[in-house]
Amino acid sequence: MSSRRAAEDGPTVSGAEVIARALRSQRVEFVFGVVGIPVTEVAVAAQALGIRYVGMRNEQAASYAASAVGYLTGRPGVCLVVSGPGLIHALGGMANANMNCWPLIVIGGSSDSNQEMMGAFQEFPQVEACRLYSKLSVRPHSIEAIPFIIEKAVRTSLYGRPGACYVDIPGDMVNLQVKASSIKYMECCMAPPVNMADTSAVSVAASVISNARQPLLIIGKGAAYSHAEDNIRKLVEQCNLPFLPTPMGKGVVPDDHPNCVAAARSRALQHADVIILLGARLNWILHFGLPPRYRADVQIIQVDICAEELGNNVKPAVALLGDINAVTAQLLEHYQKSPWQYSCNAEWWEVLKEKMKSNEEASKELASQKSLPMNYYTVFYHVQEQLPRDCIIVSEGANTMDIGRTVLKNYLPRHRLDAGTFGTMGVGLGFAIAAAMVAKDRNPEKRVVCVEGDSAFGFSGMEVETICRHNLPILLIVVNNNGIYQGFDADTWKEITKLGEISKVAPPVSLLPNSHYEQIMTAFGGKGYFVQTPGELQKALETSLAEKTVPSLINVMIEPQASRKKQDFHWLTRSNM
Ligand code: ADP
Repeated sequence: MSSRRAAEDGPTVSGAEVIARALRSQRVEFVFGVVGIPVTEVAVAAQALGIRYVGMRNEQAASYAASAVGYLTGRPGVCLVVSGPGLIHALGGMANANMNCWPLIVIGGSSDSNQEMMGAFQEFPQVEACRLYSKLSVRPHSIEAIPFIIEKAVRTSLYGRPGACYVDIPGDMVNLQVKASSIKYMECCMAPPVNMADTSAVSVAASVISNARQPLLIIGKGAAYSHAEDNIRKLVEQCNLPFLPTPMGKGVVPDDHPNCVAAARSRALQHADVIILLGARLNWILHFGLPPRYRADVQIIQVDICAEELGNNVKPAVALLGDINAVTAQLLEHYQKSPWQYSCNAEWWEVLKEKMKSNEEASKELASQKSLPMNYYTVFYHVQEQLPRDCIIVSEGANTMDIGRTVLKNYLPRHRLDAGTFGTMGVGLGFAIAAAMVAKDRNPEKRVVCVEGDSAFGFSGMEVETICRHNLPILLIVVNNNGIYQGFDADTWKEITKLGEISKVAPPVSLLPNSHYEQIMTAFGGKGYFVQTPGELQKALETSLAEKTVPSLINVMIEPQASRKKQDFHWLTRSNM
């Protein structure tokens, strides 16, 4: 539009500016992305309005980061990507967000609408492609419709069971100018309405709990997302209930609370006669709620915001449909009127405590082994010794994540991020960047510690550059066993390579031995440490944690064949060769 016309018709605004303003009016704070044709202008417009833009090195990591913002803040982060392959790379993060029930908005540029079906640059049926990975997948029909569509996407991502939403923006819409007066911005959508459970069902649940001989409360990441920490802690303490957090439910009630029975997880699940399930699904993480991991007659009191979830795999004794925080308050209210407390002298406590003691002793024994290279338990023992109590722990890998979870403690809610429901490897650095960006404004002293297996680190290792570019004082610990599950030491690897062409003879789990991952950090100006002994590890941890402004990477060499301590059940560890 010529400047003369603009002067005649009043000020104009571009599609990019409308997107940015619509996002700001929905209180979006963070955009993560990889720019290019046709979305660069959207990132520029967002920055002009005070929205933080973090340029990532791969769309997958960008979508993981944006989804973690949604979990941590309760408002969706945005992932901004280019057309075709850019959008396809972001599908991983959409799927992961949906599986985790986290809000996320993905905005994808797409090819110009007048070239549709002509073989345009990066043309792809993006709206259709995203349907399987989202709650809503739409393209506004005009610039004027953008605020309406963005409000709907943000609201849909947050209401009911949270999840991912996709908004498609054809390239020609980004730079098109329209009369500013023709755009009507929407008010910020209301916070999700809080729903409570049927009061008679709450009374039935309370009486099932009071009659339990071996009760167990399971705290999932839905409870963390609903900010139910104060009420759940009151319920645990008022009723004296043993509790077990799921991986990301850790910290809703601190791991060192006397009622936490995480160290006797298998036994608690196997023998509980009444389970109160707060914001966790009976999926693979909880072994489907079925024998032999559970009693066949276990009574489940299931609390969830999603009606369709109730009854999945096991018919609950009582189904409480509602927000965890609100339903927990209802239970508390019931127990205020009719007080009840589980006996401190019940045999169940003895059973659990005895198992906790023996498991903790076995871990301690492994942690105290002096042989080199170190094992997982020794490494995590030293890390746990030095981690600040309020740090956010991000973790991924196979043994690294599973063993790390049992040793590294969480004391605050929403302070653990990991591979999650989808078991996604590659989330670590994106999550850590998101957590550090959120902390930067709200609590700049908070440390983010990202504990990665060497294989998991490889999925998004180049995001170290993003970390250094944004001066995020993240501490990355790579627990390096030279492989996936297990690897080989340098001598064995040399022997293997003599057997023939590597692609024909090397075990598929193996990675190059003694890789100096810490040099990726030093390449971009951060601090790197290569450690092989407990002493070196202690020193590297001390120095990195004292350093408040510079990112560090500690590459910890461990025994390549190190594994977990003996497990009662081999489900989900069966692939560990
Ligand atoms: P975990 O991985 O910790 O086992 P899941 O992701 O399997 O947890 O389960 C989380 C559950 O929490 C989902 O079924 C989801 O519908 C539910 N949820 C999410 N937010 C809320 C909320 N505010 N109130 C109740 N349930 C919620």
